[in-house]
Amino acid sequence: MAFKQLTNDRPRILVVGGGYVGFTVAAKIQKAIKASGGVVTVVDPNPYMTYLPFLPEVAGGNIESRHAVVPLRQHLTDSEILTARVEKIDHANKKATVRGVDDGDSYELSYDQIVIGAGSVTRAFPIPGLAETAIGMKAIEEAEHVRNWVLERIEVAALLKDEAARRQALTFVVVGGGFAGVETIAEIEDMARAAVERTSLLRVSDLRFVMVEAMGRIMPEVPESRAESVVAHLRSRGIEVLLNTSLGEVVDGHTLKLVNMGDKSSAGEIESDTLIWTAGVQAAPFLKDSDLPVDERGRVRVGADLRVTGDEGPVEGAWAAGDNAAVPDLTGGGVGGFCVPNAQHASRQAVRLAKNLLASRNNGQLQDYYHENLGAVAGLGTLKGVANIKGKSFEGPLAWVMHRAYHGYAIPTVERTARVAANWALSAVFGRDTSPVRHLREPRLTFEMATGNAPEKKKARL
Ligand SMILES: Cc1cc2nc3c(=O)[nH]c(=O)nc-3n(C[C@H](O)[C@H](O)[C@H](O)COP(=O)(O)OP(=O)(O)OC[C@H]3O[C@@H](n4cnc5c(N)ncnc54)[C@H](O)[C@@H]3O)c2cc1C
Repeated sequence: MAFKQLTNDRPRILVVGGGYVGFTVAAKIQKAIKASGGVVTVVDPNPYMTYLPFLPEVAGGNIESRHAVVPLRQHLTDSEILTARVEKIDHANKKATVRGVDDGDSYELSYDQIVIGAGSVTRAFPIPGLAETAIGMKAIEEAEHVRNWVLERIEVAALLKDEAARRQALTFVVVGGGFAGVETIAEIEDMARAAVERTSLLRVSDLRFVMVEAMGRIMPEVPESRAESVVAHLRSRGIEVLLNTSLGEVVDGHTLKLVNMGDKSSAGEIESDTLIWTAGVQAAPFLKDSDLPVDERGRVRVGADLRVTGDEGPVEGAWAAGDNAAVPDLTGGGVGGFCVPNAQHASRQAVRLAKNLLASRNNGQLQDYYHENLGAVAGLGTLKGVANIKGKSFEGPLAWVMHRAYHGYAIPTVERTARVAANWALSAVFGRDTSPVRHLREPRLTFEMATGNAPEKKKARL
């Protein structure tokens, strides 16, 4: 059988990453490039764009994980999609090395222009025990697993005789008080409460939720007064919010030793089976090994027109935007002069990048990226939310509706909006779906038990 091999016979625009930046750029330029005899090639280890702002709602069981992603092949029909990882960029020779997932072969792809939109990865610190114990909230699999794990811990706890083990199973810790952490703890608390209310063997007061934040406040994206009211709201739901506190060490996968950020003294210990880490992001690490200019934080250096720009000026044929790029914030509102890594910037930068890229092919004028921050919206569980739009603050059901209206509209394609809206409608009528799907990590278990070949039972780990 003859397999179709990757071709290098057409002028190629190589788009690294099919997230906010990659998806939007490809969607905007694919027809024009195809019409001119070229090809847009999108390379992403996942065959879908993950709509990251929906991960907390996936973890909370309000959105099906499959509906929070946007399939690239279904929606970028005029682009070439490669489910692969870019391992190296040799821009001097305009070649990228890509490897098919997960054990696929490696290829060299030549290109004429490259768009870097590989986003960011979770930023962890060298805290003993952290890497072996925690889970992030940056991928759809993580959100889906957190949902199943939290619900399964409730099932496990319901039949535990040992009081300490039960407490440990029902204690859930989130480190990081940014949007991702706050939304995640709020959503899973809502879901866990709904699940326990359906369980005669447990009480809601058996649940314990703890948020650990190293700074003196949460949610830097909203004014301090609003952040304080979110803390008050979380505490009113029984969620413990520990400010100026960090994680010092994890012992035996369940003893979380906390440290006071001021004097570095002990801030106590928590016994928990669940540690969710959302304390920041860093640019996609492979960029450090490319020959494109990166700053001290590993972000690709770009000018305000989104061309990659080194000490000698713009680098021909290279563009970047989103979380993996240091994009100057011309409004003066950014951190250190650069746009903060969020979807609001990534999606708008992508539109500007696409326009500039097409303009550059027609000797047109490039325009700088300029965007005034519009504010932020966050969902904190059913009918609960917080929003700060153009300086005006909102809280409660109205903010929650604003959060859903904005993200329901913002997820790419009408088809995905419809699927997500259907999820919400079903939850509104029937309540949260609180049954875990078990054994996803060991799908052969049922068969192994039937054949008498099941492995020895070990304590489950996050
Ligand atoms: C839980 C959570 C909630 C959030 N909520 C909000 C919110 O409410 N509002 C907001 O404004 N922002 C929010 N953000 C931030 C926002 O989602 C990001 O800033 C945005 O996704 C950045 O877009 P991007 O295109 O740069 O990166 P991404 O959207 O992350 O896309 C990067 C893509 O590159 C791919 N990739 C990575 N490495 C490689 C490689 N080596 N080769 C090829 N492809 C690669 C990845 O698979 C991914 O598909 C949230 C983030 C998280 C994690």
